[in-house]
Formats: sequence, C-alpha cells, structure tokens
Amino acid sequence: MSSTVDLPPDAGRSWWLREALEADPGEPCPPLDGDTTADVVVLGGGFTGLWTAYFLTESSPGIDVVLLEQDICGGGPSGRNGGFVNSWWSALGELCGLFGDDATLRLCREGEDSVRAIGRFCDEHAIDAWFRPDGDLGAASSQVQIGSWADNVIAADRLGLSDVFQVLDGDAVRSLIGTPKLHGGVFTPYGATVQPARLARGMRRVLLERGVRIHERTPVSRFGSGGEAIAETPGGAVRAGSAVIALNAWAAHWKRFRRLLTVRGSYIALTEPAPERLEELRWTNGMGVWDYRAALHYVRTTPDGRIAFGIGGMQPGLARTIGPRFAWDERGVRVAAEDLYRMFPSFEGVPIEAAWGGPIDVAGHHAPFFGSLEGGTVHYGLGYTGNGVGPAHLGGQILAAKALGQESDLFSLPIVTEEPMRFPPEPIRSPGALVANKAILHKDELEDRGEEASPLVEFVARLPRRLGYNLGP
Ligand SMILES: Cc1cc2nc3c(=O)[nH]c(=O)nc-3n(C[C@H](O)[C@H](O)[C@H](O)COP(=O)(O)OP(=O)(O)OC[C@H]3O[C@@H](n4cnc5c(N)ncnc54)[C@H](O)[C@@H]3O)c2cc1C
Repeated sequence: MSSTVDLPPDAGRSWWLREALEADPGEPCPPLDGDTTADVVVLGGGFTGLWTAYFLTESSPGIDVVLLEQDICGGGPSGRNGGFVNSWWSALGELCGLFGDDATLRLCREGEDSVRAIGRFCDEHAIDAWFRPDGDLGAASSQVQIGSWADNVIAADRLGLSDVFQVLDGDAVRSLIGTPKLHGGVFTPYGATVQPARLARGMRRVLLERGVRIHERTPVSRFGSGGEAIAETPGGAVRAGSAVIALNAWAAHWKRFRRLLTVRGSYIALTEPAPERLEELRWTNGMGVWDYRAALHYVRTTPDGRIAFGIGGMQPGLARTIGPRFAWDERGVRVAAEDLYRMFPSFEGVPIEAAWGGPIDVAGHHAPFFGSLEGGTVHYGLGYTGNGVGPAHLGGQILAAKALGQESDLFSLPIVTEEPMRFPPEPIRSPGALVANKAILHKDELEDRGEEASPLVEFVARLPRRLGYNLGP
C-alpha cells in the first residue's frame, strides 16, 4: 500500500470529543466509591445508556438512576462516530424482506421521528451539537454501484412513499457536491448530522441536572441478576431493581451475547478547515454522503469547513476482543485518508488533522435488537451495526419502558419481537470473518479502480450473504 499521506499521531480521543471537552469539560463524575442501591442501574455511557436514563427521568421524575461508564460519557463510539443521524430508510428494501412491509414502515417512521426529536432536544436543552437536518445522499462512488438503490426505490414505490427518496443522475448528484467521483444516487431529506461528542456531553449535563448519578471511569467487572441486579465495580457494587445493558460492542465479551454480535472497526480521517474548497464543491450545508461499497464510505462536513471521511467494515486482525486497534489502527486510518483524497481530489494538499476509530457491534440482520434476560429485570439494546446515533433515541425509549415495567406500543416493533441471528461459534468465526472481510475489502478496492474481482474473491466476499447474514455484497 502506498504511504504518501501524512497521518497525525493517535491522539487517544476522537477530535469530536477533544473539541467538546474544550468547549465544556462538564462537572466531574468521579468513580463509584462504596456500595450503593438504585431503582435502575444503566451500564454504559453512550447514546443508548444516556437516552435510557433520559427517558427514565421523563417517565418517572425523581427516579433514582445510576449510570456506570468505564471511560467517560461519549468516550466510546457515541463520541467517535461520523455524526450521521439517520432512520432506517437506507435499508428499506432489505428490512421489508426481513420484517415485512408494515413492520418495516413503522420502524422507519419511528426512526425518522427520532431524527427530528434529537434536533428538538438540542434546542430545548441549549445543546449546541451542530445539528443540521439537511438530509443525506447515498451515492455511487464507482460505476458498479450505479443502481444499487433499486431495492429501496422499488420498496418505496410499493409502499406509496413519494417523499422518502429522490433518485438523482450523475449530473444532479454533482450539482449537490461537485466531485467527479460520484455517479448518481438517492437523496433522502430525513437525515441530519451532529457533532456527536457535543451531543453526548450535552446529554450528560441534562442527566446530572435531573439527578442521575453518573460514575465515570467505573468499569463493571461482574454482573449478576436474580431478584435484583448487581453491578460490581472496583470501587463498590450497585444493587438495583432493574438494569439496562447498553454496552455496544463490549457486550460481545459477555457469554450471553457472544453469538449475537461480531465486531468490526470503523475509522475516520478529518481534514483541517478548508471552507473555500467546500465552497468550490458547493457543499456548504450539513448533508451527509455515503456510498454503496460493502465497506462503505461515509462523509460529512463541519461548520468550519472540514471533511470528515469514514470507512466501515474494517477488521483489525482477528478482533476477538476489543483492543486498542479499534480506537486507532494504522491501516484503517490510512485507508480512510487515502480514499478521502481519491473521492475529493480538490482537497489534495489539505492536511489530515486527526484520525481515530471505534468498534461496531454488527448484528446478523444489520438491525439492532432489544430484549430482556430470563428473570425480566435486566434489559439490553445492542447490534446497531454502525447506525446507532438516531436509533439509540428510539432504543432509549424501549429500554426505559422495559426497565419501568411499563407496556409500550414500541414493544411490537420488529427490533423487539424478532430474534437476532446467531453467528457461528469460535474458533470458526473470527478466522472465517477475517478471510471474508479481506475479500470484501479487496473487491471494493478493485471496483473503486474500475477493475473486476476474480471469481474466487467474488465467491468468498459473497459467502456471508449466502449464509443468510446481511454482510458484504
Ligand atoms: C468510527 C465510527 C463511526 C460511526 N458512524 C456512525 C454514524 O455516522 N451514524 C450512526 O448512526 N452510527 C455511527 N456509528 C455507530 C454509533 O456510534 C453507535 O451505534 C452508537 O454510538 C451506539 O451507542 P451505544 O450507547 O449503544 O454504544 P457506545 O457509545 O459504545 O456506549 C457503550 C459504552 O459502554 C462502555 N462500556 C463498555 N464496557 C463497559 C463496562 N464493562 N463497564 C462500564 N462501561 C462499559 C463503553 O466505554 C461505551 O462508552 C459509528 C461508529 C464508529 C465506531
């Protein structure tokens, strides 16, 4: 691989989180020190845990909630992601095949409501999270991707949805973003972008104002459930009437979830500000752009004129545990940076200021799942598969209702009723995934260059899908 791009060193945290902490470090949330009790204990301080705690306080003001986070709130993917706030429209065709038309339509509409609700939440609580509801564009970044949107468009026609997709030819796409590397696509108005760490830290502030007890740098080392839930940490234990597991990819370390998740890496390269070059591209709003590669690119701008360019579907080694390579991997960030300059040649010469990554909790169906452990006091929401920023708002409502023992219409959504697919056990899974993943990336790279993959690469890249997983081409 060529090494012409200068990469910045690993800064430990995402640029988003460093920027958000500089703007407002927030009041300290010291580690748990001593045993305590609570009505609900929430494990994980990302969007799922934060929204769950928020909706608990909405439904039941004065409720005693303890939230435990091993790092700081937003230190995980919620403060590291691309900041695309989406519903599930981009997976409409696929989801209709899995869940049926009616259930999928309900899910997508709920997700769409969440996008708007996140914007309102920021307004109501004076959180300047750079929320820009300018829609998103799925675009073909190589010739073979043209028409990849057909399933979605056919499903939208069948469902009589005239407002969701606008199909655009190459010229129309290039009138939105003037790069020669995009060849047509589909625009949907129901999407937004945010500065994700500002949102996470703003939510943390709102929860503290509502009396939620947040303990950062507090890893849960043991967890037990029976009549009550017990979360043990190095400084003490929390005993609670119910518990919510909002641990994203880290849940894959738990025996109960090991077969339900597989973990991939996603990496982002962020340029220095170059607002004049974005003006030349005519891309001055908050519209997010993604392509139809299996290891997809997702790209957005910032108000001060940067491009943040992400690549998904990466697997740093066997990836059996979530190690430091998920946060920064030389190959992952280099591919993101090189692909940025290839897709936006006019940014050549604008340095990469920051790069980072994070783990993705991939579910077999590519849709999250929400449920409860035997005994009914412990609830979980996992498997967002790289699309959790908007959906975690819906997930928080589901999990809060479950933790409170309430009934909810949301429990009839397919992300609650449908069983997640199981992945093969180890030792087959990780090496098998690594081989398939290499083939998927190789096929994407060849197609980016206008070349065809060999029959063997095609066969291996398509294997996961042949086995029924919504992974790869
Ligand atoms: C690079 C990247 C780009 C992405 N881009 C997008 C995007 O543009 N749009 C989108 O919708 N989604 C995107 N995603 C996915 C999105 O970030 C997630 O789906 C979402 O943040 C999930 O929120 P969560 O709260 O479930 O998980 P997290 O934010 O990961 O929160 C889980 C928390 O649990 C904590 N934790 C783990 N183990 C323990 C323990 N034992 N004890 C205590 N705490 C623990 C972790 O530190 C973490 O903070 C991206 C992800 C990555 C990595």
